[in-house]
Order: sequence, then structure tokens, then C-alpha cells
Amino acid sequence: MPVELKSTVEEVALAYAEAKKDVYFMDEFKGLLLEYANRPSMLYYAKNLSEKLGGAKIYLKREDLNHTGAHKVNNVLGQALLAKRMGKIRLIAETGAGQHGVATATAAVLLGLECEIYMGSEDIQRQALNVFRMELLGAKVHAVSRGTKTLKDAVDAALEAWVERPNDTYYLLGSAVGPHPYPEMVRDFQKVIGQEAKEQMLQAEGRLPDLVIACVGGGSNAIGIFHEFVPHKEVQLIGVEAGGLGLDTVDNAAALSLGRPATFHGMHTYFNLDINDQIAPVYSLSAGLDYPGVGPEHAYLKEINRAQYLAATDQEAVAAFLELAQSEGIIPAIESSHALAEALKRAPKMSKGEIILVNLSGRGDKDVAMIARYLGRDDLDDAQLF
Ligand SMILES: *Cc1c(COP(=O)(O)O)cnc(C)c1O
Repeated sequence: MPVELKSTVEEVALAYAEAKKDVYFMDEFKGLLLEYANRPSMLYYAKNLSEKLGGAKIYLKREDLNHTGAHKVNNVLGQALLAKRMGKIRLIAETGAGQHGVATATAAVLLGLECEIYMGSEDIQRQALNVFRMELLGAKVHAVSRGTKTLKDAVDAALEAWVERPNDTYYLLGSAVGPHPYPEMVRDFQKVIGQEAKEQMLQAEGRLPDLVIACVGGGSNAIGIFHEFVPHKEVQLIGVEAGGLGLDTVDNAAALSLGRPATFHGMHTYFNLDINDQIAPVYSLSAGLDYPGVGPEHAYLKEINRAQYLAATDQEAVAAFLELAQSEGIIPAIESSHALAEALKRAPKMSKGEIILVNLSGRGDKDVAMIARYLGRDDLDDAQLF
């Protein structure tokens, strides 16, 4: 992270420390979650799927039903409100696949802020539909055509833009990563997932789940559902990273499973590193999990043995994607399908009295074309699918 940003980030930390103690601010945030984001999201017992697997009961926390189709809306509403409170007039953000860019542009419209999104030129080509969505929402999308032309370079470009105009601009980070206060702040804006799920589970079953499973990119949806359960030691927490083509290849994004501790992007945590201890290129079919690091709180939960981190491959995630579509009529995001894949492995080995809670972080409409390509459906070319 550029040293010039130290005081700018400290300003955010101070503003957030005050905002979170301000009842008016927190009420405004909760109001937006309720009336704009469509919370609380449902807790759904996947009966068909559970009975088919013949073991534990599988419950889904339906973040896919939120406005904009994923958990990301929780975070962008919180941070955009903070930006306004700080007197900023402009939001900037990085985006990989475009999901965070769309969410940020949405919050900007709602709160009357300008919005500029930095995106690798390679990603812009691959995600034309999301680029157009951002434009429809009035955002300006900057193509970043240096380096790998993907997310990592978009982060660098966005940080440079913040150095240029720190006074009127707020950097809205997309996951529980980066320098303090972002990992803590993003967790706080996402912890509503676990708070609701716990209450809903007690209503439905009169007890807590045995297992909570979430996919891990930067780690925001996972820390969001885990946080409320961390003090309940009897609840096992499992994060599932992108295994890509396999953990025995270099084509994955499993920072906690295969990475090493290092300091980049303003945080000390696990990263996928090359032999020179620099950030390694990562791969996953799932653009949302394609990040070479992980939020520092997950590194902590791993080291104290409170949560366990595994990986699901592209192939396992696609199988889980198809299974949920065909057993429950729910098309999940390919990211969320990584968490589901682990549930599919475990449920049959557990007893019928046991409960698995899966965070269904997003819906899969955005992934349909990619899945068609993965399945070799050459007859469905892009023109037809869009
Ligand atoms: C962005 C995204 C993710 C990955 O981000 P986290 O910060 O790890 O939650 C997971 N699922 C969906 C649906 C996403 O859009």
C-alpha cells in the first residue's frame, strides 16, 4: 500500500470507530438493510437435497435473495453511508469480475455519490455485461491495462487514484481484507448474516447447527456468517477456498491451504506466493474467489484452530452447482457452489439428526454462460445466452 495513504486510512479508522458507536448511524444502516437490501434473508431447509443425500439436514442462508443477488450489498451500504458521513462525494473501488463494482455503483446511486470503478482490461473483456451494468448505474469504469490486466493491477490503480484525491474520495473495499479498519469494518457490516442465521436456526430447530460452511475469496461472506458462531465452540466452522484445477497444481487460489504468511495490500496474512515471495498468479473458474490472499481474521481463526479451511475444485463446484439447481430449483453462484460441494461430501457421512448450515452467498444467473461453456455447450454461443 502506498505510504502516502497512511493518514487517509487512519481517517477512515477514526470515522468508523465513531460511526459504529453512533446509534443514528447504525439505525440508518439497519434501515437500508431492511428496506433496500431485502433483509432478513431467508433460512431455507433444503429438504429434497438432504433426503437425497440421506444424512445431515442441510440449511441454506439465502444471501442470493438480497438486492443485487449476493451478500456484497451489506458491505457496500455500510461503507457508502460511512463515506457520506465523512463528507466524501466520490466512491472509488476495484473490481475483478465486476460484482463488487456493480454493488458499489448501486450504493453510490442510492446515496447520491459519484462512482469510479477500476477494472483490469482483461476482466473488462470477459465481463462485458457487468461493465454495462455499472455504466447503466452511472459509474465511470476505468480500464487498467498494465501488468496482468486483472484484479491485482486494478487494486494498485485504485489506490493510486486515492492518493491523487484523498480529500473528497472514499475507497470502498470489496472484502474483509486490506489495512485496518477494513477487515474489522467489513466483518461488522457482514455479521448480520450469522446473527440472523442463528436466530432463524433456533426458531426452526431449537438448536445451533453442527457445522457452518462458507466459501472464501477475500473472506467477507465467511466471516459474516462465522462471527456470531465463533464463541459457540460446539459449532464447527469450515471455509472453502477455490481449489481450481487441484491443490496439486499451481492453478488454484487456496491461500490458506497452500499459501504462506506475508505482507501485501496493507495486511499481514496468508498469500499465494511464488518462489521469490511475490504474489503468485492465481486461478479459479469462479472469478469471485480468484484472489491471492485472504482476510487476516481467517488466518487468525486458522492458527487458533477455531475454523478449518479446505478447498473445492472447479469440477466439484460445478457438480454442486448442478446438484442444487436440479434438486431444489435454486441456481447458486459458482462461488457459493464451493461451499455446497463440501456440504455434499459431508452430509451423507453424518446422522439425520445433525445440521449443516451453508452460506449461499449469491445467485448464479451471472454464471450461466460460463457454466454452459464449461460443459462444452458450443451450441449456446454468447449471443444466444445474453
Ligand atoms: C464476491 C463473492 C464472493 C467472494 O467474496 P468473499 O469476500 O470471500 O465473500 C463469494 N460469493 C459471491 C456470490 C460473491 O459475489
